[in-house]
Amino acid sequence: MLSAADSDTICAIATPPGRSGVGIVRVSGPDCLNLAQQILGFQPQPRHAHYCPFFDLQGKMLDQGIALYFPGPHSFTGEDVLELQGHGGFYVLDALIQTLSEAGTRMARPGEFSERAFLNDKLDLAQAEAIADLIDSSSAEAARSALRTLQGEFSRLIDELAESIINLRVYLEAAIDFTDEEIDFLSEGGISEKLAHIISQLEAVLNQARQGALIREGMAVVIAGKPNAGKSSLLNALAGKDSAIVTDIAGTTRDILSEQINIDGMPLHITDTAGLRDSDDPVEQEGIRRAVKAISHADRILLMIDSSQESVNETNLNDYLEKTISFRLQEAIDLSRLTVIQNKADLSGRPTKIIASQDSKQPPIINLSAKQQTGIDLLKQHLKDCMGFQPAGEGGFIARRRHLDALNKARDCLLQADWQLNHNGAAELVAEDLRHAHQHLGEITGKFSSDDLLGRIFSSFCIGK
Ligand code: GDP
Repeated sequence: MLSAADSDTICAIATPPGRSGVGIVRVSGPDCLNLAQQILGFQPQPRHAHYCPFFDLQGKMLDQGIALYFPGPHSFTGEDVLELQGHGGFYVLDALIQTLSEAGTRMARPGEFSERAFLNDKLDLAQAEAIADLIDSSSAEAARSALRTLQGEFSRLIDELAESIINLRVYLEAAIDFTDEEIDFLSEGGISEKLAHIISQLEAVLNQARQGALIREGMAVVIAGKPNAGKSSLLNALAGKDSAIVTDIAGTTRDILSEQINIDGMPLHITDTAGLRDSDDPVEQEGIRRAVKAISHADRILLMIDSSQESVNETNLNDYLEKTISFRLQEAIDLSRLTVIQNKADLSGRPTKIIASQDSKQPPIINLSAKQQTGIDLLKQHLKDCMGFQPAGEGGFIARRRHLDALNKARDCLLQADWQLNHNGAAELVAEDLRHAHQHLGEITGKFSSDDLLGRIFSSFCIGK
């Protein structure tokens, strides 16, 4: 396991590169006071803003600014931390970093400050991840949810679940120790009811975490269809700005274009694919290859049809796909992820509406006009419904795919424990399943996480965080 003990002193520029009014260099580790003495010429008072010059090791003045000193353990990393707030810009900050490294400080790896905070128990793993998510937030919803996770909202729910599992395990371990009385223990302790309660508690957390992961990771949508069906126009209508080139010369969109928008806080990664006709043109063929890849990974595929030219319904959909779409794309499209968009409703005179088929295997059809921007709200609502997305209420928090995986595994273990209890009644086996469930929950907060996983998580952070 990684350890915080005996750590060296690290430094990094914590502000983005470029010219700015203020640039911050952060230092963490046991050598901070000594470094302050060398660079500032005095030892700063804890949690006090000193306005002073910064010097190199030869005593030449580099800059002047604010120095802050936070002695451990009452600092972000839990170690001694020194923050030097000078002027932004490449030379000044680089000169400070150069001086710090001449004085024996090491450049921090990405995420190393947060990693030290985690190793010193200042934050758990889900909270540390929320720092990166807060920095990466692209909407108010995502930022608010990340902040709630950072404040420990998600971890509190996980800890409550873990606590309930521990209590049940303690009871079962007692049952195992008094084997003769095992039957009474199992039937009289209300174990089955307690377990059912934990499972429903976990399901509720899992539902919230799914919403949290959706806020972070969003929905992948592909717009596919013949050239000139209006794919780029729909992308523009959804994005609200002219990002795709709209023209009436067939085959304009030769590459795939991506756009990210937000619907009530749910990020939508929209990809406009190349025209779907087969072609000998190597550029168009490459476009089709990329379209196949995007379609295979999409949460939803929107098949655009120019309804002033043709129409699609339950009976002719398969024929339509066969006749108009290259074989490779047909293979990638799966009907359960498909929605048909009958575009150009303004020309065909179709009322803008959503038509859901009686047959659940048939894709829904939406009549709209991308150019006139009518029916776009219907489509947005439909996309939210497909993902079961609900705008985060007050208690919403951000979550990651790995958290969902761990929660799903914990739920499987609890269901297995329930099955054991009802079919076998062996306390040892039930206890073992509970132990595994507890371990999976511990992976979320970092109580049981491998060094490898921790390394992967923190290396995706930015430097200086
Ligand atoms: P793409 O090739 O599928 O990306 O199609 P475009 O978005 O470039 O649109 C092709 C042509 O159809 C352009 O002239 C658009 O202005 C026009 N168009 C797109 N959507 C509509 C619509 O809803 N109504 C009308 N009347 N024209 C549209």
